Amino acid sequence: MNISITKTTSPKTIPTENLGFGQHFTDHMFLMDYDRATGWSNARIVPFDRISMHPAATVFHYGSEVFEGLKAYRREDGKVQLFRPYENAKRINSSAERIRLPLIDEEDFVAAIKALVEVDEKWVPSKFGESLYIRPFLFGNDETLGVHSIKKATFMIILSPSGSYYPEGINPVKIMIEKDDVRAVKGGTGYTKCGGNYAAANRAGENAEKKGYTQVLWLDGIYRKYIEEVGAMNVMFKINGEIVTPELSGSILPGITRKSCIEVLRSEGYKVSERLISIDELVEAMKNGTLEEAWGCGTAAVVSPIGKLYYDGTEYEVNNNQIGEVTQKLYDLLTGIQWGKLEDKFDWTIEI
Ligand SMILES: *Cc1c(COP(=O)(O)O)cnc(C)c1O
Repeated sequence: MNISITKTTSPKTIPTENLGFGQHFTDHMFLMDYDRATGWSNARIVPFDRISMHPAATVFHYGSEVFEGLKAYRREDGKVQLFRPYENAKRINSSAERIRLPLIDEEDFVAAIKALVEVDEKWVPSKFGESLYIRPFLFGNDETLGVHSIKKATFMIILSPSGSYYPEGINPVKIMIEKDDVRAVKGGTGYTKCGGNYAAANRAGENAEKKGYTQVLWLDGIYRKYIEEVGAMNVMFKINGEIVTPELSGSILPGITRKSCIEVLRSEGYKVSERLISIDELVEAMKNGTLEEAWGCGTAAVVSPIGKLYYDGTEYEVNNNQIGEVTQKLYDLLTGIQWGKLEDKFDWTIEI
């Protein structure tokens, strides 16, 4: 893949304070066009700007969009590294295959990320906990209202410096277990990272927020009984000494942080079970005190301890609303590898 690079003539001031998440964007972005007749072409890095699109573009009407999320981390020696970007490359193709968007060569996907991060390298923050969030996305761009298979598509990457998820130390989150709405069912798009899944989650998310909970914990769409995942994170529990996480059933997102947590925990000698976890088992464990820890895992927060869980009119406290031992250990090990403070014996990081 040949990438043409046009640099901005008016670079922005790089923010260093109150970065937040997804608020600031760097000076450049990556684009590439797809046409079924000619394949991918015109890979380019250009100044960050608005894009112009036809009002009938497929993505606006029929939701044909998939995305990814990963980060670039600055190590103490000043070098910048990515964490398992080939996993994102595989996943965007698995998502694209489901939505019938064109696939992207895995090497091209990683090369495009590397090239763009290199151009905007100065934007990678250097404080531990801060990072450059990378958002690749791919959407259908046919200029017609007809519902047909996609012939034109666009792939883009934008970058956003993001602050530490925990500027004041790791605070447990409050989660509400959703009884009515469902996010996904087996056979649908639950295992893909697509915009449509988020649209389906909006109503429950808003209800939870109104009641003072930060995110929703989803139950399966058929029996409304088995635990699936939290908002934009997978979920793990320590129940009576056993670490458990819902198995990849087809309706939950196969998180790269989830996979990394399982691999790190197993290498530390913990037993991790991927299996069905029913809401009854969880409620029973909360009632009798055997739910020792609960946490979410995803790229944004790495791991996020759950301090309170609301279900069917009752709020339960987990581990006295404190971060648990396994959650803390996972956070330290994963962030240690990501920011290059610990040896990466898994070979997960790729230097830019
Ligand atoms: C992105 C995402 C996750 C977390 O995946 P990571 O690869 O660990 O960042 C979990 N659930 C949903 C719905 C997601 O979109």
